[in-house]
Amino acid sequence: MCGIIGYIGTDNGVDYVLDGLKNLEYRGYDSSGICIINSSSQTNLIKQVGGIDKLVQKVKTIRPNGKLIIGHTRWATHGKPSISNAHPHFNNDHNIFVVHNGIIENYLEIKSKLIDRGYKFVSETDSEVIPNLVDFYYKKIGSLSEALRMTLDDLRGTYAICLVSTIEPDKLFVSRLGSPLVIGKAGNKIFVSSDPSAITNRTKSISFLNDYDVAQISLKKIKVFNQKDNKPSFAKFEIINQRNEQNNLGDWPNYMIKEINQAPEVVELAIKGRLSPKHQIKLGGLDDVSSQLDHIDRIIIVGCGTSYYAGLIGEYLIEEFSDIPVEVELGSEFKYKNEPISRSTCLIAISQSGETADTIAAINKVKDFGVLKLGIVNSIGSTISRITDAGVYCHAGNEKSVASTKAFIAQVTVLSLLALRLAKIRTKSFDNLSEELLKLPDKIRAVLGQSDQIQKLAHKYIKYKNFLFIGRKYNYPIALEGALKLKEVSYVHAEGYSAGEMKHGPIALIDKTFPTIVIATKGDLYKKTISNLLEIRSRGGPIVLITNFKDQKIKNMVDDLIYVPESHEETATQIITVALQLFAYYFSLELGNNIDKPRNLAKSVTVE
Ligand code: GLU
Repeated sequence: MCGIIGYIGTDNGVDYVLDGLKNLEYRGYDSSGICIINSSSQTNLIKQVGGIDKLVQKVKTIRPNGKLIIGHTRWATHGKPSISNAHPHFNNDHNIFVVHNGIIENYLEIKSKLIDRGYKFVSETDSEVIPNLVDFYYKKIGSLSEALRMTLDDLRGTYAICLVSTIEPDKLFVSRLGSPLVIGKAGNKIFVSSDPSAITNRTKSISFLNDYDVAQISLKKIKVFNQKDNKPSFAKFEIINQRNEQNNLGDWPNYMIKEINQAPEVVELAIKGRLSPKHQIKLGGLDDVSSQLDHIDRIIIVGCGTSYYAGLIGEYLIEEFSDIPVEVELGSEFKYKNEPISRSTCLIAISQSGETADTIAAINKVKDFGVLKLGIVNSIGSTISRITDAGVYCHAGNEKSVASTKAFIAQVTVLSLLALRLAKIRTKSFDNLSEELLKLPDKIRAVLGQSDQIQKLAHKYIKYKNFLFIGRKYNYPIALEGALKLKEVSYVHAEGYSAGEMKHGPIALIDKTFPTIVIATKGDLYKKTISNLLEIRSRGGPIVLITNFKDQKIKNMVDDLIYVPESHEETATQIITVALQLFAYYFSLELGNNIDKPRNLAKSVTVE
């Protein structure tokens, strides 16, 4: 959450920074700002409430120029979106400017000490203590970099920080602890960013900062040292190959619909080189831990939100194909648990961004237990990919829509491959799943071809304010995911429930104003789910059935019916999820919501 961009170079960098902020807008969009230091050491601080387009308009009217710039797009944690709460924040003398991502937990304590010393504050944010504390130490010791280090020592919480000052107008100062930050180098231009994908259109040469790294960046030198012991280290640059075309909308009206439509290609990319037509599984990212992986006797999957639901599908998949018991935990809860964990356990962390703070906390919790830590992440080089022992990338490309769609499809595909990799013997189900994975892209294309029908369905149900989604086994997590997608982008109340559990409580909600989306696929559980459907019908609840089973008898018992292509139960999840994503999308579209940037949300949740 919150996007940071920094620039130092020989050209005017205003457009670079605005462009970088636009690429980071998915991380927060309630307000934004930039601080530009020009060659005469004059500063220009421009802030705006709302999305980056508004900031761009404001900057255009001022036409500033500068070669040292920081910018920020905010997702408020402390204080409402307003000009004074927008970053960059500054000290009382207006010569130290800071952008911050994260939460300073002890800011009230620091703030009151600074107020006692005569400092004044203009915002409600936690971040504003940073430039003022740096100012306080700078006035004591006369070194900006040491003042920053002393400030960082006093902060409790998480941060990615980028600081500029007219005291040293040829330097960018950066640091991180628990929030992502990278440096990118392109000749006479150096960039700092919360996410490499925001600057890979300018440079592919990227250095990932580690926790407690402090970097002093000038065009002559990038000096990195450790905040704790002051020991020098160095910025190791690597080449990041990321396709930038995906940053463009092309002819699509928004990223959510573009990304839903990328699902077939996403499955193809996730299985490419990993699943052969002869059903051989090769997960190169796991080669180094192969022998350890063969000896695990317990798996704990951790994730948050949509990734957690992918994990629930992973639980069914892995237990189906291997003899390893699996538990799925929410990152935000797992860290508080005190259960014993043996060395033969494997922790699998799932995260689209690879920066999810709660999932990182879960990994850190087990870091001294000697367990095997694997990551299933989409963002290349992200924190989770670096703090786990090994992993499998999703290769879904940048996901820009805040509501995750294609990343979920890729996560479930990777979990399917992992389940096959962990299979001890090759059964008929093994061949069925691998065959189905190869056919999956075309089946998803067929669902995408039903977009008009799903749009009409969304139109028909637009007046309803509550929805129940139910399913059994694999269809239970996708009921949860379908409900989550609808609430995220439409702001209507939607609950996902296990179909069997419905009669233990939620059925009390059912009446003619409360529709249920029933997910029932061909197989042993079809009839049981249909019994639940009939229980709802008996109570007057409108019913939409999504199924892959052409059961003539059911037609007259439901209000609406969506048939999706037939497949085995393990891959039906992705096919039906795409239908549910389209339903949520068209619902939101009809309501006229800002689909890519739903209210109160942001992507890459780097705060706990
Ligand atoms: N805590 C800061 C604020 O409220 C930054 C928020 C964030 O990184 O999400 O402005």
